[in-house]
Amino acid sequence: MTISVPADVISRLKAVLGEGGWSQDPDRLAPKLNEWRGRWEGVTPLLALPKTTAEVAAVIGICAESGTAVTPQGGNTGLVSGQIPQGEILLSTERLRAIRDIDGFDDVIVAEAGVTLAAVHEAADAIARRFPLGLASEGSATVGGVISTNAGGTQVLRYGTTRNLVLGVEAVLPNGEIWNGLKRLRKDNTGYDLKQLLIGAEGTLGVITAASLKLFPILTSRATAVVAVTSPHEAIKLLARAKEMTGGAIEAFELMSRLGITFALKNIPGLREPLESRYDWYVLIETASGEPGAAEGAMERLLTGALEDGLILDAAVAQTVAQSRAFWAVRENQSGGQKAEGASWKHDVSVPVSRIADFIDQASAAMIAFDPSVRIVAFGHVGDGNVHYDVTRAEGASDEAHSARRDEGSRIVHDIVASMDGSISAEHGLGAAKTADALLYKSPVEVEALRAIRVALDPKRIMNPRVLF
Ligand SMILES: Cc1cc2nc3c(=O)[nH]c(=O)nc-3n(C[C@H](O)[C@H](O)[C@H](O)COP(=O)(O)OP(=O)(O)OC[C@H]3O[C@@H](n4cnc5c(N)ncnc54)[C@H](O)[C@@H]3O)c2cc1C
Repeated sequence: MTISVPADVISRLKAVLGEGGWSQDPDRLAPKLNEWRGRWEGVTPLLALPKTTAEVAAVIGICAESGTAVTPQGGNTGLVSGQIPQGEILLSTERLRAIRDIDGFDDVIVAEAGVTLAAVHEAADAIARRFPLGLASEGSATVGGVISTNAGGTQVLRYGTTRNLVLGVEAVLPNGEIWNGLKRLRKDNTGYDLKQLLIGAEGTLGVITAASLKLFPILTSRATAVVAVTSPHEAIKLLARAKEMTGGAIEAFELMSRLGITFALKNIPGLREPLESRYDWYVLIETASGEPGAAEGAMERLLTGALEDGLILDAAVAQTVAQSRAFWAVRENQSGGQKAEGASWKHDVSVPVSRIADFIDQASAAMIAFDPSVRIVAFGHVGDGNVHYDVTRAEGASDEAHSARRDEGSRIVHDIVASMDGSISAEHGLGAAKTADALLYKSPVEVEALRAIRVALDPKRIMNPRVLF
């Protein structure tokens, strides 16, 4: 899609943004127009860099009046091309960087949209609190981005997705008006919840400019282990047992395969084999508790029993923080480790937890039947039913040939997901990349209702027009 923006609109935008508030310099724009894996490259007539909510409102107001399309961007870590403009104005939140308040009585942090997740963690830590959303991209991913994509991550099992962690939102709606919904209430039962509509809207219903986020106590007792299991079926049994035995102390339960670990070790410097012997499947488990020694004790009881009963084949519990980080580094590099292996069909799917192992079995059998040469890496947040199911081309094969079969191959995987009442996008959203796929599985009744909401708020479809329904 090419969208041409009239010169007078560009001039008006520059005028409201002022010096330092916009750029057309190709070097300045380049990192914002390229997706980190190199899968998408964008184009924009203007990078808008508002510094205040009022400036965001002025930009969106001009765009609304003139029918000019806008794409909001935070840290540019999104994986579905929602943040890469194709001719729209690119509105970056990089200068909306203030932490407006942090309060240990309300257990809340009020942060502007461009604050990174890592900076939120740091600020929370400084008042002995924790914001429990953890992503491998947290050094760059922003408050506005994680809210707009309803990001998941490794602690969803215990704390839920971003949707469960937001108390309030300040946003500029598609007509340019500012909505101050920055409440910090745990209970507010006053009809439709506008903030929940904006969460996960991927920039289509306005620009989030700030948010109040829930904080939690720091859990000082923590244990991290990597265990080997025969197959994902045993992993699911272990998860059920872990939930029963640890009284809710399970915080992360992450599946990895031998091939995923091999790719990570081969392609990412500094990683170590998590166990001495090699196995087909692994689970990284983390327990956490506020009671001294409780997480470590729970982990020990769980693993001792599971080893005795033959549910796990091997286990290593991290003895130091550095060892725990080393285990996590292997998990966090499951995606990065595949990059050097060539083109891959990425599937970010969820099914009911009880069906995960069946999904992996069925999808793998179907993929091998479709193309026996592919290399499959399944990994992810199995504790909450989310599997990243990546199908990489054969060694030495052509990227182009593999990419050309993506739609056909992915359709097979997604049909299996749908047959299990799952979702074709568990946590990354739909962006421009997956909206067409989602339309194949959403009911017309739902799509019609969603479109009606969008039209009501954004009749000219100026906000992220390539994204969603
Ligand atoms: C290494 C790596 C690991 C990742 N791991 C996870 C994971 O475990 N779980 C997970 O859920 N995701 C994960 N992601 C995906 C990504 O980090 C998340 O989607 C993140 O929430 C995006 O934040 P961002 O600030 O980079 O947003 P961007 O990529 O800049 O934007 C994402 C979307 O949000 C919109 N948007 C951004 N800011 C605003 C705003 N202020 N107002 C309105 N719309 C806005 C954009 O238009 C776009 O549609 C990972 C990505 C990488 C690179």
